[in-house]
Amino acid sequence: MDMNYLVQRRINARKAYRRKVIATIALSAILLVLIVVGLIKIIMDEKKAEDAKQDTNVSENITPGLSGDNSGNTDNNTPGTSGGENQGSIVSATPEPTPTEAPTPTPTPLPAKLVAIDPGHGGEDLGSTRQRLYEKDANLAIALFLKKELEDAGYAVFMIRDTDVTVENKERPAAAIAAEADIYVSIHLNSLEADSDATQGAEVWYADKRDDGSDILAQYVIDELCKVIDTRNRGIKMSNNLIVLKYNEMPACLVECGFITSETERAKLFDPEYQQKVAEGIANGIKKYLALE
Ligand SMILES: [Zn+2]
Repeated sequence: MDMNYLVQRRINARKAYRRKVIATIALSAILLVLIVVGLIKIIMDEKKAEDAKQDTNVSENITPGLSGDNSGNTDNNTPGTSGGENQGSIVSATPEPTPTEAPTPTPTPLPAKLVAIDPGHGGEDLGSTRQRLYEKDANLAIALFLKKELEDAGYAVFMIRDTDVTVENKERPAAAIAAEADIYVSIHLNSLEADSDATQGAEVWYADKRDDGSDILAQYVIDELCKVIDTRNRGIKMSNNLIVLKYNEMPACLVECGFITSETERAKLFDPEYQQKVAEGIANGIKKYLALE
C-alpha cells in the first residue's frame, strides 16, 4: 500500500514536471509566431508606404505613418527605413528584397530542478509528542508551506508524503532516487528526554559518506533558516547513521526546525504563521544551494 502510494506520488510529480516543460515550450512557440507575424506586418507596411510614395511622387516625407503605427518597438528591426531616405533619386523598379529568414529562436529554458521534500514520520509513526501535539503534523505543515515556496520560485517538488500516511524510512530516499530528484530535504522537530525550555534552536544534519555537497546544502539551509526565524543557530551536524541520509544518492539534509520539548518553541512550531516562516528560511537555503549548480 505504501509503495503504491509512493509510485502514485512519483508519477504525479513527473507528470506535473512534464506539464511545466510542455507549457514552457508552447509559450516559446507562441512568442516565436508572434514575432514572425510582427515582422511580416512591418515589411508589408513598408512596402505599402513605398508604393504610395511612388504613386504620389511626393518625395519629401519620410513615411510618417510608418513610425506612428509601429511605435518604438520596431525601430531596431526595420532594415528598410534607409529606403525612405532615397527621396526619389532612384525610385527604381527593382523589387525590394523581402527578408525571409526567421528571427533567432528563443533559447530553450533549462529544465527545473526537482526537490524531494520528506515530512518526517506520519500515519502510525507520530514522531515525538507533547501535550497531544504530534511532530508528524508540524513536519507535514512546514513541508507543505515549503512545497509552495519552491514551486512559486519555479522548482519542481516531489513529496515523500503529502498526507498523514505511514512511510517506512528506507522507502523515503528510495522514492526520491526513483523520482530522480536533485536534492533531498527532510523536515523534523527535535526533542530531549525531558521537557526543558532552556534548550531551543534549529540544526541541520547531513551525511559525509558521499562528499556530494550535502554539507554545503546543510550550511545554507541552517543559515538562511536562522535569518528568517528568531531562534538559536545550533549549526550543522554530521551523521552517517540517519537512514534517510545514509541511503540517499543525492545532496541531502535533515532539518530539525526546533525543540518540541521546549514549551516556548513548541508553541511557535505549531503556529501556521511560524511554520510558513520556517518554510521560507529553508526554501532560501535550498535556492541558494541550487543557484550554485
Ligand atoms: Zn523526527
